[in-house]
Amino acid sequence: MLQKSKHTSLIKTEAKRLGFLSCGISKAGFLEEEAPRLEKWLTKNMHGEMSYMENHFDKRLDPTKLVEGSKSVISLLLNYYPDQQQNEDAFKISKYAYGTDYHFVIKDKLKELLHTITTEIGAVHGRAFVDSAPVLDKAWAAKSGLGWIGKHSNLLTKQTGSFYFIAELIVDLDLEYDTPVTDHCGSCTACIDACPTQAIVDPYVVDGSKCISYATIELKNEIPAHFSNKMDDWMFGCDVCQDVCPWNRFSKSHKEPLFNPNPKLLSMDKKDWEEITQAVFSEIFKKSPVKRTKFTGLKRNIDFLKKG
Ligand code: SF4
Ligand code: SF4
Repeated sequence: MLQKSKHTSLIKTEAKRLGFLSCGISKAGFLEEEAPRLEKWLTKNMHGEMSYMENHFDKRLDPTKLVEGSKSVISLLLNYYPDQQQNEDAFKISKYAYGTDYHFVIKDKLKELLHTITTEIGAVHGRAFVDSAPVLDKAWAAKSGLGWIGKHSNLLTKQTGSFYFIAELIVDLDLEYDTPVTDHCGSCTACIDACPTQAIVDPYVVDGSKCISYATIELKNEIPAHFSNKMDDWMFGCDVCQDVCPWNRFSKSHKEPLFNPNPKLLSMDKKDWEEITQAVFSEIFKKSPVKRTKFTGLKRNIDFLKKG
């Protein structure tokens, strides 16, 4: 018992030192409550063209099937709320994509955390996951008491809102487990009311195929006509449901220099974005998550916005 408590506190202290906002831990096992929810969401085709969401159904609900011998899921949050935002007259990029791709930044931190665990505790086997399809990161973070899943389906907390990344380290080590916090959405419906495409079809249910994030990032072909005039000037992702959430009044700026944007990204106005060239794209989005759409994808989104 003493060992477990010592190991747990070592991991949480190290997570803090590495700059994570918080760290919560759950026993690895089958996510009973999530199973019917995920199945219903997939059956209703709310994942649209994101076919990877259908893969590894069993593994996604049970990390012991994903990482052999795993005993604990360590969930970690990393703040990305920027202290500066884009020019007001610009096509918009989701705040999480301002700086260096979070996959790189977080993977490095998780590697360091695992290194400390193996150095201090011994032969612990673990795997790191960052926004990775096989792990239901929000469900694990909520189970571990890091926040509750709001009506917009993002994880949020009373202290820090929802602008952070979620990552997991799944390890074959017994630890002390945290308990979930209560839901504080109450009677609020701000996110549902503000969503430009009515993608939040019911409280806590987002139809991914109607979401602007999906249209601007996941879609490989043309953006469907039903998004016309509803994109609210978003060219990569969408933050509306989080921007209007009252708990995000408490967001504080991140302290990760790698998440700082290229100054040009902040200053460019709509005209600049309309005229963007491959060279400018490569300069501003070096190592950025925006590279996922490539230059042609971002151009497609801008052209769609230009049409109205
Ligand atoms: S990200 Fe934008 S489009 Fe998607 S649910 Fe939130 S407000 Fe709606
Ligand atoms: S806007 Fe309101 S309903 Fe939506 S997540 Fe925030 S508190 Fe919950």
